[in-house]
Amino acid sequence: MSSYTVINPADETEVALVDHLDRDATDEAIARAQLAQRAWAGVSPADKAALLRRFAEAVDGDRENLARIEVQNSGHPITQARWEAGHVRDVLTYYSAAPERMFGQQIPVAGGLDVTFHEPLGVVGIITPWNFPMTIAAWGFAPALAAGNAVLLKPAEWTPLSSIRLGELALEAGLPEGLFQVLPGKGSVVGERFVTHPAVRKVVFTGSTAVGKQIMAGCAAQVKRVTLELGGKSANIVFADADLEKAAATAPYSVFENAGQDCCARSRILVERSAYDRFMELLEPAVAGVRVGDPGDEATEMGPLVSAKHLASVRSYVPEGAPVAFRGTAPEGPGFWFAPTVLTPASRTDRTVTDEIFGPVVTVLPFDDEADAVQLANDTDYGLSGSIWTRDVGRAIRVSRGVEAGNLSVNSHSSVRYSTPFGGFKQSGLGRELGPDAPLHFTETKNVFIAVD
Ligand code: NAD
Repeated sequence: MSSYTVINPADETEVALVDHLDRDATDEAIARAQLAQRAWAGVSPADKAALLRRFAEAVDGDRENLARIEVQNSGHPITQARWEAGHVRDVLTYYSAAPERMFGQQIPVAGGLDVTFHEPLGVVGIITPWNFPMTIAAWGFAPALAAGNAVLLKPAEWTPLSSIRLGELALEAGLPEGLFQVLPGKGSVVGERFVTHPAVRKVVFTGSTAVGKQIMAGCAAQVKRVTLELGGKSANIVFADADLEKAAATAPYSVFENAGQDCCARSRILVERSAYDRFMELLEPAVAGVRVGDPGDEATEMGPLVSAKHLASVRSYVPEGAPVAFRGTAPEGPGFWFAPTVLTPASRTDRTVTDEIFGPVVTVLPFDDEADAVQLANDTDYGLSGSIWTRDVGRAIRVSRGVEAGNLSVNSHSSVRYSTPFGGFKQSGLGRELGPDAPLHFTETKNVFIAVD
């Protein structure tokens, strides 16, 4: 068994040493999960619901602790980390209603009764990234458990601590041993085993598009079910008739929140040419106003990047001589800090316009008309989210229908809601999480015909 030293990204101090599972330990966990799942499938719907509610209550009681863990491990500002812990509770509460509502159908046929059942898949493997460790985990484990499955959760190497705590809370709440196990380890060991082990019937992967493609290819060997939530390069489209003050005031938060380490970051601002100069005038003070600093401070709006390696990657997009329009501030000294940065590249094909930088860097480009805006927004392999700013209702609807992305908001930058579906078009993903249908994505439909004669 190897181990990994978790580093606080705000001051580079060591936070914890986490043991990594090897392949044999992963196989043992999968075997325990299989046993636990068989028992769980036999638990009555009402009792499953009650246990999930108790899990939600345990998370609620531990919210401040979970938030502090995320501040230390991931550098998330404390106010954001508290929201994340509350969101995990809400996701569990929402899906605790599902076990008693896994309705099948009764279909009219000749000679008998035809009914459908939603059978659990068995063991589900969830692989999460480092940017929103606990919320993304909950989007998978809550509906999967509600649908009668056992869950194995492999957190990202850099950010395992809040997931490990959630595993403890599940046990404290009374979930059976083995039903929800958190398995820290390497992607190439634990994650890969979810793909190759035949008893894991579905892999839910959130992370980079490159690794997502490998996982999908690996799962094909066993026709294993897969949900993929991958990268993004989303557009924030601002028309000249919009409330420009509001659009400019909110734009920094739609891309710099979580230091830009957000798959939904609106990292391409597209502005109608006639409003471009005015928008930039309004954007500059808004960017300067973003409070970057100590994640433990209640007033902080943006913390550091997650690691030295990631900081180097983000920095490579803003070399000496880059077309920087203006920048915000960031602390000096230890920690992986990078100031909010606004770029105005000369070309629509510059790599800052096409690559997911996953840091606090945004490009601003002008467009000519509605058709040009939609064309530019869609000129990417990604299709996760986006925003549209206009006072023209017809245009808002036309552009919303025209943009190839799974999650759009008009005159706002809506964050994720647990009660609505979330996922990507094109290479941003496959399948949907959250919303009322999520538990069904962890089941197989079984049709049974019962002859009456
Ligand atoms: P990553 O792909 O490097 O890693 C994600 C997870 O996969 C980690 O737990 C890692 O250990 C594991 N992994 C790596 N190689 C593996 C392999 N061969 N087999 C199995 N598992 C493996 O991604 P990251 O850098 O942690 O996360 C950032 C990316 O995640 C960004 O591209 C971002 O857009 C994306 N993301 C997407 C969403 C969404 O919902 N669409 C949400 C958050 C993040």
